[in-house]
Amino acid sequence: MQAPPFAQPYNLYDNGRMQDLISNILSELGEDPDREGLLNTPKRVENSLRFLTSGYQADIDRVLNGALFTVDYSEMVIVKDIDFYSLCEHHLLPFFGKCHVAYIPSDRVIGLSKIPRLVEVFSRRLQVQERLTAQIAETIREKIAPLGVGVVVEATHLCMSMRGIEKQNACAMTSAMLGTFRDSSRTRMEFLELLRLRGGAGALRQGQSADLACIAEE
Ligand SMILES: [Zn+2]
Repeated sequence: MQAPPFAQPYNLYDNGRMQDLISNILSELGEDPDREGLLNTPKRVENSLRFLTSGYQADIDRVLNGALFTVDYSEMVIVKDIDFYSLCEHHLLPFFGKCHVAYIPSDRVIGLSKIPRLVEVFSRRLQVQERLTAQIAETIREKIAPLGVGVVVEATHLCMSMRGIEKQNACAMTSAMLGTFRDSSRTRMEFLELLRLRGGAGALRQGQSADLACIAEE
């Protein structure tokens, strides 16, 4: 996937400050920041962090870039299995998985390719899964005022699996249901059934219940 359009190139932030801080972290960890293998690590980590949080710089309207169309179509639109990678704001460790987005248009639709871009903009920030889910749903509501929006996110959190907090393959699921997806159980079930029908929503398929990730823990 492409990076979101930047308000300004992130190398403009390159004043060495973050690299000094990362070098200090290496020292605090008991490492020698001057040894060969670590010499370029502060710069690499900075570039990596700037990229992984580049969603802060993205302008939603530029991302959507006029790809909002008036149509006479009122059936459910679904984009499934959108891969995303994000960073948990509590531990700065990755959480990643699949996002499934559905909506029922009122009179406008979003170009299909723009939905994964929207997911990317909100996932390339420090996040909690619940907020990521809600932001995607609310942005779609705000931009095209559909009859309803449903977003389901399933993710693995390295802050859980690497630190041994939960079983290794614990999958956290979150959903945001707005409009008809909230009010009509038939619409909601249709969406969830369509996710169950194919391979992607593993946890849904196995009937696991939603699990809250990374909340109120040390
Ligand atoms: Zn975490």
